[in-house]
Amino acid sequence: YRAKERGNNYQLYSPSMNEKAINRLEMEGALRKALEREEFTVYYQPQINTDTGEIIGMEALVRWRHPERGIIPPADFIALAEETGLILPLGEWVLRTACRQNKEWQMAGYPPLRVTVNLSASQFQQQDLADRVSRILKETGLDPQWLELEITESIAMKDVAFTIKTLRQLRDMGIKIAIDDFGTGYSSLSYLKQIPSHTLKIDKSFVRDIAKNTEDGSIASAIIAMAQNLKLKVIAEGVETEEQLAFLKKQKCDEIQGFLFGKPVPPQEFEKLLKKKK
Ligand code: C2E
Ligand code: MG
Ligand code: MG
Ligand code: MG
Repeated sequence: YRAKERGNNYQLYSPSMNEKAINRLEMEGALRKALEREEFTVYYQPQINTDTGEIIGMEALVRWRHPERGIIPPADFIALAEETGLILPLGEWVLRTACRQNKEWQMAGYPPLRVTVNLSASQFQQQDLADRVSRILKETGLDPQWLELEITESIAMKDVAFTIKTLRQLRDMGIKIAIDDFGTGYSSLSYLKQIPSHTLKIDKSFVRDIAKNTEDGSIASAIIAMAQNLKLKVIAEGVETEEQLAFLKKQKCDEIQGFLFGKPVPPQEFEKLLKKKK
């Protein structure tokens, strides 16, 4: 991407352009600059074994540390990064940063944890994805067993043949695969069975009212039962209350992620959680 050449072109666009489009252009320029200036940062959120209450992993979640606007959440820039293609260098940077950080913690003597990294649609569609991931693992020295890649259910189901082929390559490298936001897409069970994944992640929209709303409770229970039948691990995201935790425990949900155990935090703060564990 050629941020330098494209950075100063706003004046070429006529002022009749609506404000939204201008804002978008400014955001795109700002995103490019942010990549060059390394304004992005990775936060980590703990993932907990439901039975033992121990941290067994973490999800890497990108943040933009904007010099004026402060911390900007991914909801405000991932879609634009995706549309402009900037998600490719950004996503690769997140992956490299998360692998390097995890390896550093292992070298420091903390008990090894799995790190989960989100892949965007266009990252997942790259023909050379497996090679790219493999290079990053070599470069950072992280053993593939400690890396889990997340794709959403809707990305996974877009082109099932392609998904199976790509995930097989990644699985054969020893990497784990999670299907994110599960329950929000339209998976056919017969496809799900063929997709080489390790983990289903119950979307937080079903977790919110799990203990109150019988329908969401039934959906969550059905996903957990299905995962068990398919020999997949199941993790619930967005767990905020003891009631939700009690429900998920009773249904034998393997793992939990949510504000009840910890919000996504910068690496220095996550390390404090690791210190408690050591
Ligand atoms: P996701 O992958 O489903 O990540 C989980 C989101 O739920 C995170 O939001 C996390 O902070 C939030 N969350 C976790 N526990 C709770 C809880 O108890 N209550 C509530 N209300 N929320 C909770 P975040 O960090 O804002 O990320 C939003 C989305 O942005 C992610 O959803 C993912 O789709 C995307 N994203 C984040 N980082 C990356 C990245 O590096 N690459 C790509 N492609 N997408 C990313
Ligand atoms: Mg995720
Ligand atoms: Mg999710
Ligand atoms: Mg989500």
